[in-house]
Amino acid sequence: AFFLAIETSCDETAAAVFTDQYEVRSNVVASQTRWHAPFTGVVPEIAARAHLRQLLPVVDSALTEAGITLKDLSAVAVHHTPGLVGSLLVGVAAAKMLAAVLHIPLLAVNHVVSHVFACRLAAGRDIFPCVGLVVSGGHTVLLHCNSAQEMKVLGGTRDDAAGEAFDKVAALLGLGFPGGPAVEREAALGDPTAYDFPRAFADDGRLAFSFSGLKTAVLYACFGQNARRMDPPPPGPKRANLAASFQKAVIDVLVLKAKQALRQTGQRRLAVGGGVAANQAFRQALEAMCAREGVELFVPPRHLCTDNAAMAAGAVELWKQKLFAPLDLDAQPTWL
Ligand code: ATP
Ligand code: MG
Ligand code: FE
Repeated sequence: AFFLAIETSCDETAAAVFTDQYEVRSNVVASQTRWHAPFTGVVPEIAARAHLRQLLPVVDSALTEAGITLKDLSAVAVHHTPGLVGSLLVGVAAAKMLAAVLHIPLLAVNHVVSHVFACRLAAGRDIFPCVGLVVSGGHTVLLHCNSAQEMKVLGGTRDDAAGEAFDKVAALLGLGFPGGPAVEREAALGDPTAYDFPRAFADDGRLAFSFSGLKTAVLYACFGQNARRMDPPPPGPKRANLAASFQKAVIDVLVLKAKQALRQTGQRRLAVGGGVAANQAFRQALEAMCAREGVELFVPPRHLCTDNAAMAAGAVELWKQKLFAPLDLDAQPTWL
């Protein structure tokens, strides 16, 4: 059986085809970077309009690359939550339309759960039960996962998401958009011990994150307490050290809280997903921690960390259990 999945939750327009055996036949992602870059962040209204322009051609490419046509589909899956409501609506409307005209089931999938499921997809074998850690532009959350359908939130961020902090610090340092990869490149040139930035909740066992104080600390370290002018710092050791020290502070707390979650739940597997999991220094720190703890680590290849539609393959399970979504399915901006 073939499935088409659609992802439009934020600023990537994506479609994928996979089988009931979790074989990915195509995974097409159209970025919108060039439209958002002038604003150093995702502009919701621009994102929704870009999805409208890009979605049908992207679906077409996904089918063509997979070597199938609409008639071959057994079901259509869509990320209907969480995300920007205008963006989600485009994907949800398209998926409902396809399900209706093709007379096939509609499957509603949670985007954050899919970020964990990307690990299952990449591993090619079962990863459950495990601790899940999703670190993306909108989320920083630890989950106790018994299956793709059964996940309990262990804790999350009290303010910004880690990816959002990467994007804001990139803008502050004049590194452009998207911020994560730019900060990673700059950090490679700097000394991660140059600045001692705050690590929120590091001294206790609470499974919680906070990145807004860290963001402010980078701001003050960059411009001083009384800074009025906020021109980005010029290229050089100071800028590189700020990036490296910021990145180290984020990685330290992410790895520490993942370790605490593993110890508190007694789980022996860790599945990490979301755009920030594309960060090489983060991946290395996770590997080192998991090796020390005797825990099996699952991290997808980079292209399955950032937003894509193939990670919605958990939908196969919904299909098998006949957990179909109604044709009046709505986009849901918040998750819980
Ligand atoms: P969510 O999944 O919470 O709805 P999103 O879909 O925007 O948010 P993703 O596409 O999963 O998030 O991830 C994008 C985020 O990942 C951005 O904030 C980006 O800066 C960050 N990111 C991408 N690559 C890297 C990297 N190499 N290092 C650090 N952060 C990165
Ligand atoms: Mg994105
Ligand atoms: Fe995402």
